[in-house]
Amino acid sequence: MPLLSLIVPCYNEQESIPIFYGEVKKVIDGMPCDCELIFVDDGSRDGTRAAAAALAESDSRVYYVSFSRHFGKEAAMYAGFCCARGDYVGVMDVDLQDPPSMLPEMYAAVSGGECDVAAARRVDRHGEPPVRSMFARGFYRMINKISDAEMVDGARDFRIMRREVADVITSMHEYNRFSKGIFGWVGFRTKWIPYENRERVAGKTKWSFWRLFAYAVDGIMNFSQVPLSIASWLGFGLTFFAFIAELVIVIRRLLFDEPVAGWASLVCIIIFMGGLQIFFLGIIGQYIAKMYLEAKHRPHYIVADSNRDDIKRIG
Ligand code: UDP
Ligand code: MG
Repeated sequence: MPLLSLIVPCYNEQESIPIFYGEVKKVIDGMPCDCELIFVDDGSRDGTRAAAAALAESDSRVYYVSFSRHFGKEAAMYAGFCCARGDYVGVMDVDLQDPPSMLPEMYAAVSGGECDVAAARRVDRHGEPPVRSMFARGFYRMINKISDAEMVDGARDFRIMRREVADVITSMHEYNRFSKGIFGWVGFRTKWIPYENRERVAGKTKWSFWRLFAYAVDGIMNFSQVPLSIASWLGFGLTFFAFIAELVIVIRRLLFDEPVAGWASLVCIIIFMGGLQIFFLGIIGQYIAKMYLEAKHRPHYIVADSNRDDIKRIG
């Protein structure tokens, strides 16, 4: 039978893990494939590792990989991809916001050859603060205009893909990972399965508004050079404008002998220009900072403990 690997990133999820396992077990027991569950403990401070290790004791299909510190969900997913052995690889959250009942449909779509990736897509943002939804919508509208990686509004990381797709994703070693972009960038035939948003089963979300905002900015910078070209185009436009204005002033002075008044407006323009220059220097600085991080070739994660022998401890 084909093997399906499910990667489950967990950060401080000791309450969710047993509930998740109970629900997922019911579903995967009835599926026409073997399954392995890979819990990636992202340096949690609570009993997440112990909870996953306890499950691994009682069920040989369960594996856990525990990081030496908190590396973030992106690193946790990457570690999961690195050790997933399945013919099909899936990713899902542990808080049951990704309904396990969708797994059979996703698996059928991928294994039946209908598509290479079957992914979940939230059709509403029920239970989410309106400001957050507004920013999220704006983000997707913008990123799709300025990047060649297609990102679908409401797309979740929750998906099942064929081995070939997983291999491509694992082969992308970039340090600044933005999975929503990577999934879109690699392409392949994707089937979107809509579902209604639901509340998490236990614990609370790890994403504050500002963390999400920083994540969105990260996504833009990782998948688009448009902010840099805005700097060049705006610089060009302003220089052109200044040249014409200068010409007008000189002509007025020479031909009509009109003196130019208004130092206050001049000061405003100087401050405006100074601000603009610092702003764009900042954008350039951000890209350089990312290059600096990439150039160091630091590992994405460090494994402190795992019941998987074949995993790369530093990956
Ligand atoms: N997660 C993680 N590392 C982090 C943040 C989150 O491994 O730094 C995991 C978390 O345990 C959960 C999933 O990623 O399984 C999604 O996190 P969360 O539910 O907080 O995000 P939301 O559903 O609110 O977007
Ligand atoms: Mg969640």
